[in-house]
Amino acid sequence: MKPEISVIGTGRMGSALVRALLNQGYPTRVWNRTAERTAPLLALGAQAARTVAAAADAASIVIINVSDYAASDRLLRTAEVEAALRGRLLLQLTSGSPGQAREAAAWAARHGIDTLDGAIMATPNFIGEPGATILYSGPAMLFARHRPVLLAFGGNPQHVGEDPGHASALDAALLVQMWGALFGALQGIAVCGAEGIPLAAYEAQMPAFKPVVDLAVADLVGRVRQGRLAGDEATLASVGAHHAAFRQLLELYRERGLDGTVPGAFDRVFRAAIAAGHEADDFAVLSRYVG
Ligand code: NAD
Repeated sequence: MKPEISVIGTGRMGSALVRALLNQGYPTRVWNRTAERTAPLLALGAQAARTVAAAADAASIVIINVSDYAASDRLLRTAEVEAALRGRLLLQLTSGSPGQAREAAAWAARHGIDTLDGAIMATPNFIGEPGATILYSGPAMLFARHRPVLLAFGGNPQHVGEDPGHASALDAALLVQMWGALFGALQGIAVCGAEGIPLAAYEAQMPAFKPVVDLAVADLVGRVRQGRLAGDEATLASVGAHHAAFRQLLELYRERGLDGTVPGAFDRVFRAAIAAGHEADDFAVLSRYVG
């Protein structure tokens, strides 16, 4: 017998979660602030819950996916809903900070509610696909027990720690790498624009350069993990070598009158490390100056 599941919040992501559950044959009940948004899901076979408390009461697994923790707290932190959730699994799939996840786990523990915090590393169209990843933190025993249900959302559910904040924290660590790449591309676009280079020519050079960047990032993370911050035989480029090339970028920005806010921040990190005598060290030594 498949467990009864309730999903609170049927926006873009919540609706994708419900569709994935229905596809796998889970009896699924839905509640949304604006009931009209549940109509397409009811047409697919979901049941409607009249209230959040009724949704919680009717299921053994309750999933919440709303805009943020403030909205989630307003829905869940009433005496009626807390009582209905007691003894059930609450799967918190709303995005939040690690601190919010830890505080929510403490609230759940006070009310006898089992909980896992999930960070969805996918857009709604990937939900249910073999490669879709959701990171979960909280008790490993709960993750193991409910893994069959979690597999409905995609083929790659990952338990990343007992600390309830660690799914959100890893989410942040991966997203900041994405923003680094996106802000990097914005600067590349600005350089090409200022120099009259068509963006198609920039795009054409990317595939050949990508392995160089990927290797440099992997090397950086590995060296920091191993504490190998000093320059050595395996160093790909020292701090000084990086900064010499980086200064050419700053010169181009000056020549073309580009806004130097973003590269200026990188330059401050380079200069702090060099002022402290790290010019010959590996780029990995900059880990002491970021964070
Ligand atoms: P959405 O705007 O489509 O849906 C938001 C949902 O929150 C709706 O169901 C809305 O009714 C509900 N909501 C908002 N405020 C509320 C309130 N005060 N009371 C009750 N309900 C309220 O957003 P979405 O894209 O579905 O995102 C939902 C969550 O999923 C967010 O935490 C988001 O960060 C996370 N997420 C989304 C994506 C994505 O690609 N869309 C990816 C990963 C994680």
